[in-house]
Amino acid sequence: MKAIAVERGSEGPAVIEKPRPEPGEGEALLRTLRVGVDGTDHEVIGGSHGGFPEGEDHMVLGHEAVAVVEDADGTDLDEGDVVVPTVRRPPADGTNEYFERGEPDMAPEGEYVERGIVGDHGYMAEYFTSSPEYLVPFPEDLWEFGFFAEPVSITEKALEHAYASRSAFDWSPESALVLGNRSLGLITLAMLEFGVESDRSFAEHDFDRTYCLGRRERPDLTVDIIEEIGATYVNSNETPLDAVPEDFEPMDFVYEATGYAPHAFETVEALAPNGVGALLGIPDSWEFEVDGGRIHNELVLHNKALVGTVNSHVKHFEGAIDVLEELPGWLLEDLVTTVATPEDVAPAFEYGHDQIKAVVEFDTL
Ligand code: NAP
Ligand code: BGC
Ligand code: ZN
Repeated sequence: MKAIAVERGSEGPAVIEKPRPEPGEGEALLRTLRVGVDGTDHEVIGGSHGGFPEGEDHMVLGHEAVAVVEDADGTDLDEGDVVVPTVRRPPADGTNEYFERGEPDMAPEGEYVERGIVGDHGYMAEYFTSSPEYLVPFPEDLWEFGFFAEPVSITEKALEHAYASRSAFDWSPESALVLGNRSLGLITLAMLEFGVESDRSFAEHDFDRTYCLGRRERPDLTVDIIEEIGATYVNSNETPLDAVPEDFEPMDFVYEATGYAPHAFETVEALAPNGVGALLGIPDSWEFEVDGGRIHNELVLHNKALVGTVNSHVKHFEGAIDVLEELPGWLLEDLVTTVATPEDVAPAFEYGHDQIKAVVEFDTL
């Protein structure tokens, strides 16, 4: 079968031939439909994040997938079911308390592998195998957008944790700012603007005023989408993050999706009293000067919180499915800028300003 992989010592992804995987004990065989590409894939390809499976010289990419059960192989899945797989799996030396509790997203580094990111092959292949406990049923009629379940689940988890940190008092957030205007930033912006009526989703709250900060000049595709969503574009060349309260307003909630480390600290300045910032970016080591005293003072005297959050698990995928069922169809369509095939995969890894979400399509339903 065809797979898209990074190989040790080579630059960029390559299409390789691999044997179709055999399901292990308790596993099903999945036929891949579509796999999304995000900023993390670019970091993995560039070598700044993730790592090869132990003892192997290549890793199949892809952690945002939608697939069909090809062979249930004795599991209680049904052949033909559409599913989305979660990302984390137990490490090679066996399971641990985080997986046993159903909270692998809270496991520290070393206590998990991530498919297509660190230590295990991903989903960017014609077939993959998985244990059913890591597969979430997905509505058939939305299959084309199933790969969005993973990134939306990331925001589901971030919202759960951010809101939990404000649950001790009467918090009524009105303003929200997203940092970053690619795929994760834009879909999160829509979740915050529209809100979702679902008791499985943590995105129920619709903010009165939403903003998205980027560093692009107009005309720009992402700025158009920000405005179609109904949010205000903040150009960081004109208004640096720490000047947002002065130029716009202090923000009750900030969602950082840039990987630009100074933003983590400027977020504290951008927050309103009692506000919370969720940090999602995964930067490399990066030294710069900050006024630590001022940040410390702001956090304390204004009851502000910063929450770092990574990965997601089954309940976040379930919430994500409800989000995808409610988000406007035009938005999902506009976010998908490239549908590539394994025969001509290069366009999926182009990263110009006209690319938001690229997907590789292996099969259709
Ligand atoms: P992406 O495609 O790399 O997008 C990054 C966005 O940040 C782009 O819009 C980029 O603008 C913008 N940006 C970067 N530096 C900026 C700056 N100095 N000022 C303003 N905007 C800036 O990544 P993504 O897939 O959307 O994901 C966003 C981040 O979240 C990445 O760092 C990714 O690794 C991380 N992530 C984390 C998790 C988690 O579980 N914690 C999950 C998924 C993703 P331009 O496009 O104009 O360059
Ligand atoms: C993935 C997460 C993963 C994180 C760190 C993100 O792009 O969506 O599932 O935990 O990267 O590797
Ligand atoms: Zn991702």
